[in-house]
Amino acid sequence: MTALDQMAPEIPPLLGDSGMYREAVNQFDRVAAYMGLDPNISQRLRLPQRSLVTTFPFRRDDGRVETVFGYRVKHVLTLGPTKGGIRYAPSVNLGEVAALAMNMTWKCALVGLPYGGAKGGVRVAPETLSRGETQRLTRRYTSEIFTFIGPQRDIPAPDLGTDAQVMAWIMDTYSHHVGHGAPGVVTGKPVELGGTAVRQESTGLGLAFLLPMALEMVDLPLENTRVAVQGYGQVGRSAARAVTRLGARVVAVSDLSGGIHCPDGIDIQALEQWTDRNVWVKGFPGADPIRGDQLFEVDCEVLIPAAIQEVIHAGNAHDITASVVLEGANAPTTMEADRILRDRDILVVPDILANAGGVTVSYFEWLQGLQYYIWTDDETRQRLQQIMTTAFREIKKVAGEENVDLRTAALIKGVARVTNAKLLRGLFP
Ligand code: GLU
Repeated sequence: MTALDQMAPEIPPLLGDSGMYREAVNQFDRVAAYMGLDPNISQRLRLPQRSLVTTFPFRRDDGRVETVFGYRVKHVLTLGPTKGGIRYAPSVNLGEVAALAMNMTWKCALVGLPYGGAKGGVRVAPETLSRGETQRLTRRYTSEIFTFIGPQRDIPAPDLGTDAQVMAWIMDTYSHHVGHGAPGVVTGKPVELGGTAVRQESTGLGLAFLLPMALEMVDLPLENTRVAVQGYGQVGRSAARAVTRLGARVVAVSDLSGGIHCPDGIDIQALEQWTDRNVWVKGFPGADPIRGDQLFEVDCEVLIPAAIQEVIHAGNAHDITASVVLEGANAPTTMEADRILRDRDILVVPDILANAGGVTVSYFEWLQGLQYYIWTDDETRQRLQQIMTTAFREIKKVAGEENVDLRTAALIKGVARVTNAKLLRGLFP
């Protein structure tokens, strides 16, 4: 190996080599076959419409220049501009981003948002970046994808490893390029820049709005229901807070440092104060330590995977004690694990429905950005509740009519909406 090879970034897999993309396509194929979808449409929807792969350099604080891979993928442009988060993670690759963009299409379609799905990412470990490095990397990445994004083209938002500050830098860089302030180019911005305070908690709130409806389907009461939350990032934290407020009891939480367990219920306010000071849940004095993987076996009624993809797999799906899995993360359950959970009569509220609260509040923020008009937080919460609960009821109805699980029903609804829109627009030229 030459010195040059050692410095160069590893070449990441492309579309067909990605297991996650193949899973997303297999899942789509299964539903397309079930729906008897026109093959002219299904072959189109299996593939992303536009993909941008870039490599770009940024300067580390010590003066070194590092080159990284960046991506932005738009799955379909049929319904309007595209929408979806940007993640910073060391394993990001084109297939992962394309799979997640496809996921965003179905998610937006089933809650009725006027968007196609998109996703972006930079292949970098965010915890190794200083604030200055994150800013330089973000601004350069924004410049690279500048012609691809815009309030009417494609609107990024936070995802794994990115936050409101990253969105502020994207907005600032984009605004400098176009020569005027452009709040509509990203969502999940700080409140001072036209973000909405509810966006931070929106995914957790959305999950909590669905919790009573999911419990009703399995004949369980809400009061004192035991919940285990895997992942204590933005989604996990907001979910733990929201379900506690509803009267449920969070009995276990995990993050990269490990897990904590307290059968009587964790004091979520105290845990928030602890993680504000210490970052990780490890060492929290109000609960017993457990290993991160033990979280899936904890006695509970509801499991909320709220971190990354493929954490529920054939190796642990048999150990889950919960009656309901509420998918806060994107694609947390492999197809094989999904089959196991179905056979075990565990109700899975799928990601594209369960975590749609995030992109729904993003949509509200985008509208406010385009109109320079601000809604109150109460108004935002009420409209979110209405959209989430309506979507749940509609999907439950499809599940009942078709005698399928909620994931299949949600996909049927999302795919049908995009298909109808495609047929109405027709083929160009
Ligand atoms: N990253 C979030 C998701 O996967 C939000 C996307 C958005 O708000 O555009 O749903």
